Amino acid sequence: MTSLSLSNVKKHFGRVEVIRGVDLSVDRGEFVVFVGPSGCGKSTLLRMISGLEDISSGVLRIGDRIVNEMPPARRGVAMVFQSYALYPHLNVRDNMGFGLKVRKAPADERARRVAEAARTLKLEPLLDRFPRELSGGQRQRVAIGRAIVGNPEVFLFDEPLSNLDAELRVHMRSEIASLHKRLGSTMIYVTHDQIEAMTLADKIVVLRDGLVEQVGTPRELYERPDNLFVAQFIGSPK
Ligand code: ADP
Ligand code: MG
Repeated sequence: MTSLSLSNVKKHFGRVEVIRGVDLSVDRGEFVVFVGPSGCGKSTLLRMISGLEDISSGVLRIGDRIVNEMPPARRGVAMVFQSYALYPHLNVRDNMGFGLKVRKAPADERARRVAEAARTLKLEPLLDRFPRELSGGQRQRVAIGRAIVGNPEVFLFDEPLSNLDAELRVHMRSEIASLHKRLGSTMIYVTHDQIEAMTLADKIVVLRDGLVEQVGTPRELYERPDNLFVAQFIGSPK
């Protein structure tokens, strides 16, 4: 079953076209990784899927609905940013429950869902702390917990581990992999890190200058890159 699809999706900022016609279909439960050079449009694509950015033309479907015009809160997506984007004045519990509060979910349901997500990510001991009292890794865990609380159809991760040190990055990578196994949700994940892409992805999408250059399993891209550009991204460690 298709979880998400883009048909000839484009985006221009003023007269500059930064996404130049992207087609992509993602199955439910698939882990899809976007790679490509800085400025190729990875974040813009995620922001369009999440609804933080309008689509200039084309069709975006989530589940079986066209969501081009749908406000972010109704799309069933949750986004995790590199910068965590936690509310500094709210403790962990309220950060995690914020989205449900905005959607006017009853307090008891909110408490239950936050407790569940906190259990999944082992955040229970941190629920009363504020973001400034957390390490980088803990903050990113809270940001992921906040995404889980909304029970989204699709998780969007924009370089979520780039601010963490190497050791923690490896640890969080395996946490994200096991989270994906446990939840079975569709995940779209942007990274610069080739090993992250190779280990997490069911399918890698190589982007170049606002277009899809090649799509395939890590193995397909590694063994049969269409061209030198793809080979440089996937084939040889940088
Ligand atoms: P990536 O995440 O792959 O590094 P981005 O999606 O952030 O790339 O950016 C793609 C292109 O769109 C870049 O050339 C960037 O400068 C441009 N861009 C992104 N956001 C805006 C904006 N709000 N206004 C104008 N140009 C933008
Ligand atoms: Mg980016």
